Order: sequence, then C-alpha cells, then structure tokens
Amino acid sequence: MSISNNLKQIKSSLPEDVTLVAVSKTKPVDDLMEAYNSGQRIFGENKIQEMAEKHQVMPKDIKWHMIGHVQRNKVKYMAPFVSMIHALDSIKLMEEINKQAMKHNRVIDCLLQIKIAKEDSKFGMSKSDALTLLNSKSYSECSHVNIVGLMGMATFTDNQTQLKSEFEYLKTCYDEFKTTNPIFNTLSMGMSGDYKLAIDCGSNMVRVGSSIFGARNYTSN
Ligand SMILES: *Cc1c(COP(=O)(O)O)cnc(C)c1O
Repeated sequence: MSISNNLKQIKSSLPEDVTLVAVSKTKPVDDLMEAYNSGQRIFGENKIQEMAEKHQVMPKDIKWHMIGHVQRNKVKYMAPFVSMIHALDSIKLMEEINKQAMKHNRVIDCLLQIKIAKEDSKFGMSKSDALTLLNSKSYSECSHVNIVGLMGMATFTDNQTQLKSEFEYLKTCYDEFKTTNPIFNTLSMGMSGDYKLAIDCGSNMVRVGSSIFGARNYTSN
C-alpha cells in the first residue's frame, strides 16, 4: 500500500468532524510530500528540531502540531510557526510558550495532556493539576496561549475494556472542563491501533502515524 492510498482509506473512515493529524516523526520529507500531494495539511512531530527542519523545506500552508513532550528551552525554535502544542503539562511550560509566542505576536493553541494510562512512562497531568492550571492567575495572564482542549495517550495494550475506560475518562474530563472553558473544541485521542475506539468515545482529533507511513525504524534515526 502507498502512503496516499493509506491516507485515502483512513480519511474515508473518519467522521466529518474528526481531524486527522498525520504523525510523520522519523519519516523523510519525501514521504511527507507524498501525503501533502494527496491533500494532507496537518502533520504531527514529536521532536522540535526535526519539526523545524521539515518546516523549513516544506510548503508553508502546512499546519505543524507538536505532539511530543516539550522541553522549555526548545520552545523558542517552534514558536514562530507551530500551529498546536498537544502536550502542555505544567504552568512553567505554559509561561515559556506565552513568552515565546509574544515575541512573534502570535497566540498558540495548546492542549493539556492528561495522564490516562496506567503505565509510569507516559507524561501528563492529573485532572486536578489541570484544573488548577486552567483556574490559575498565571493562565489568565497568558494572553498568547489558548488552551483549546485535552490530549491523552492510552496504555499500550490490546485490552479494549481498559482502552475504553481510559478514553471515556478523558472525555469526561473534557466535558467537565468545557463548561467553564467555552473555547474548548479539541479532544486529541487515538493513534493507529486505537483511533476507531477513541472516536467512539468522543475524540475529534486523531494522531495516526504508522497506519499512514508504515512502521518506524528507530535504529536508522
Ligand atoms: C508516535 C505518536 C503517535 C502515532 O503513533 P502510531 O501508533 O504510529 O499511529 C500518536 N501520538 C503520539 C503522542 C505519538 O508520539
């Protein structure tokens, strides 16, 4: 299967209100261009430097989503162009994004990453820390950061019952936060292996990599 065929197939299976982020981390620009030429405009990367390099050489109508963990000292490299940051997980990071966005006269859309997986390795905030951030004086003063929703990564498992309960938990948080944050419009959950279930549980943004571009080869990276 080609990248454009994979894309076509996945897109045709998505409800109209679900946005597809094509996760292109580790993949060469030629692969991204194949997706671009078949209409894809939103790409997700998890390393700031790799995203910045691809941004430089690729068409300027692409929306770049940072989906990985963000180190504060690297925010400045993506602040001029990043379209959405999925993994906001602390007040300090929010303040740095605000500072860098201000330098470029931009307002950057961000999602709060909530820890929904049982594994220790996954980043993210607890629900109560997320609420604290949203209600903080600091956020009310961050006029260059718009928190527009939530992101979560489920446990790496085939257990559908567990996946479903993790996705449902995130949806519950989203609905609750939305009542006091009316600008919420994005619930980012679901990857290649679980995006259909995530959509059934209320996701409206899926981050799909290997089902579009094929398996990643980390050893050559
Ligand atoms: C790599 C990655 C994805 C995509 O994973 P696939 O299983 O290849 O679809 C989605 N979200 C995040 C945060 C990722 O790091």
